[in-house]
Amino acid sequence: MTWRATVLTLFPEMFPGPLGVSLAGKALTSGLWRLEARDIRDSATDRHRSVDDTPAGGGPGMVLRADVLAAAIDAADAGQDRPRLLMSPRGRPLTQSQVKKLAAGPGPVVVCGRFEGVDQRVIEARHLEEVSIGDYVLSGGEIAAMALIDACVRLLPGVMGKQASGEDESFSEGLLEYPQFTRPQAFEGRTIPEILISGDHAKVAAWRKSEAEALTRARRPDLWAARPGQKATKSTTDG
Ligand code: SAM
Repeated sequence: MTWRATVLTLFPEMFPGPLGVSLAGKALTSGLWRLEARDIRDSATDRHRSVDDTPAGGGPGMVLRADVLAAAIDAADAGQDRPRLLMSPRGRPLTQSQVKKLAAGPGPVVVCGRFEGVDQRVIEARHLEEVSIGDYVLSGGEIAAMALIDACVRLLPGVMGKQASGEDESFSEGLLEYPQFTRPQAFEGRTIPEILISGDHAKVAAWRKSEAEALTRARRPDLWAARPGQKATKSTTDG
C-alpha cells in the first residue's frame, strides 16, 4: 500500500506547499506517496463553524475544542491502524530513528495545533502522540508537520536516487555527518583535503569517520554520550 500522510489542519491550503517541489514533490506527482490535507473546521457543528474556545481557568488565547478535533480525527482515521501524532512543542523531540519507523509504516495522521494548543482530553481520548521539532514555539503545527513528512518521504523506496541512500547521513550511526567538498579544487585559497582526492577508499572512510566523531563530540555531546558503547564505558569508569 502506498505510504500516506493525512494532515488535520485549519489551513489545508498550506499543503502541499514545500512538499510539492523537488524530491518530495516529484515523488508525490509520481504516486510514490500520498498526501491528504483535511480541514478541521469541516467537523465544526455550529453555524459559525467554531473550532476553538477560551481556556478553562482563564488566561490568554484560545484552545482547540476536543469535540471538534475528535470528530475530525474519527472522520480521517476510521478503522485504520495508523500512528496518530500531534505536533506540539511539549512533545518528545523528533529523531531520525522515529522518522525511519514512521517511513516504514503505513504513514501517520498528523494533527496541527493552533492558538494556545489543544484540549488535553482529545489528546488522551484519541491517543495522540505529541511530537516536537525543537525547543522553540511556532505559530502552528503545519510547518512542523511538513518537516516531519519531508523527513519520512525522502526515506521511502524509490524517492532518493541510488547515489543518496541515506545510510551515510547525519544521525545514521548516532553521528553528525563529515564535511563535504566538491569542485573546484581551490576556493578562495582553501583546497579540498588531499586524502579525499587520493583515490584510497579505506583512507577516505577512516578520515570521514574521524571527522564525524570530532564534529559530534564538539557540537552534540548529548548524541556522543548516547552512542552505543558510550554508556557501558561510562558506567564501568563511574564504578
Ligand atoms: N501554548 C503552547 C505551548 O506553550 O506549548 C504553544 C502553542 S503554538 C503557538 C500553536 C501550535 O503550534 C501548537 O499547538 C503546535 O501544534 C504547533 N507548534 C509550535 N511549536 C512547535 C514545535 N516546536 N514542534 C511542533 N509543533 C509546534
